Amino acid sequence: MQTYDAIVIGAGAAGLFCAGIAGQLGLKVLLIDHAPQVAEKVRISGGGRCNFTNRELDPRAPHKHFLGENPNFCRSALSRYTAQDFIALVQRHGIPYHEKHKGQLFGDRSSQDFIRLLLAECEAGGVQRRQPCAVHGIAFSAGRYEIQTDGGPVAAPALVVATGGLSIPQIGASDFGYRVARQFGLRVVEPRPALVPLTFDGEAWAPYAQLAGLSLPVRIETGSKKERMAFDEDLLFTHRGLSGPAVLQISSYWRPQAPLRLDLAPGAALEDQLRQAKAGSRKLIANELAAHVPARLADAWVRQDAGWQRPVNEASDKALAALAGRLSGWELVPTGTEGYRKAEVTAGGVDTRELSSQTLEAQRQPGLYFIGEVVDVTGWLGGYNFQWAWSSGWACAQALAER
Ligand code: FAD
Repeated sequence: MQTYDAIVIGAGAAGLFCAGIAGQLGLKVLLIDHAPQVAEKVRISGGGRCNFTNRELDPRAPHKHFLGENPNFCRSALSRYTAQDFIALVQRHGIPYHEKHKGQLFGDRSSQDFIRLLLAECEAGGVQRRQPCAVHGIAFSAGRYEIQTDGGPVAAPALVVATGGLSIPQIGASDFGYRVARQFGLRVVEPRPALVPLTFDGEAWAPYAQLAGLSLPVRIETGSKKERMAFDEDLLFTHRGLSGPAVLQISSYWRPQAPLRLDLAPGAALEDQLRQAKAGSRKLIANELAAHVPARLADAWVRQDAGWQRPVNEASDKALAALAGRLSGWELVPTGTEGYRKAEVTAGGVDTRELSSQTLEAQRQPGLYFIGEVVDVTGWLGGYNFQWAWSSGWACAQALAER
């Protein structure tokens, strides 16, 4: 049987990075993936440009941009391998990049640049790769892991599970990591789709379905007082519901049956504006509204109430207040999400109470490590999930080398 210092299962962002660094630290590493290609999610990330990290990430306050049962779990790894460290690596590889919105860093050319970076790091570490190669079973005895694969059995004293979450099963996502955790008696926080579009009841949504494709800046909120979360981002209407950065962000915090509150004209003081218009304008309300929201939305919105389909000077104060109130405090309850087929990430995963935050090793199972998205650490949209993959992969590699 072939033996290694460490075997990493999952050649995605976290697994490739961890394997490369561990190899460079002198370990003999085998990397296995059941998919024919490495890093498929890196390839499709950031609209094909890979939003590889975020300059606004503050490792001292990870709860600002990460969620999970213990959002501070990721502090150690994020502060030892920072966004700045990964940016320096990107620069060393000569990859041009730019900052977009709110600290988000993207490649200028293509996400393939980042796949090449990860493969070059593995090459520098002499990492051996088996792909496509399915894993059929894992056994632990006498301090080592024996793994049955398509290519025969392999063994190592350390096993790193980097098989990600359940989102986008079309390109290789599986529940493998959760099954391994359960096999060794580790708790798993129930996984759920996150950074995902939200859907609404077909009939109730019919008046808004005509707005599909429309995008506008909004303020979106969910949760009650203590747990309230709010984002100021763009909203996108779809045929089945809502998407866009505002909705993807809030979806990670949204719980079934909970309402969302949307301000479709943030900062507009709409009621005052409409009252002023009433004093000096004979335009239709929809035309007045179009100064504050896209005209398509204004037209669809006034169709909800006969009192809103008239010139503004003929409208009652009450009707104008109701219109402004509904636009700036639109409350609606999603029926569900678009699910793992459309989710950018999976929230939940291997319970962080089971793992060391410094090494990512299971507390009760020596030599078993979990890194990246398979862990119950979920980042906001904007490069935070890749930074977690890099930081957890790096921290694990250091621990492997120190064994
Ligand atoms: P993955 O990258 O998912 O890798 C897991 C690997 O494990 C895969 O190669 C898979 O084939 C393999 N695997 C799974 N099951 C098995 C098994 N049974 N046996 C063997 N191998 C297995 N995050 C950002 O920060 N910025 C972005 O721009 C961004 N854009 C995204 C766009 C889309 C459309 C999606 C879906 C996600 C995006 N993300 C982005 C999230 C990001 O891709 C993930 O958080 C990140 O890839 C997680 O890294 P990982 O290594 O833990 O898992």
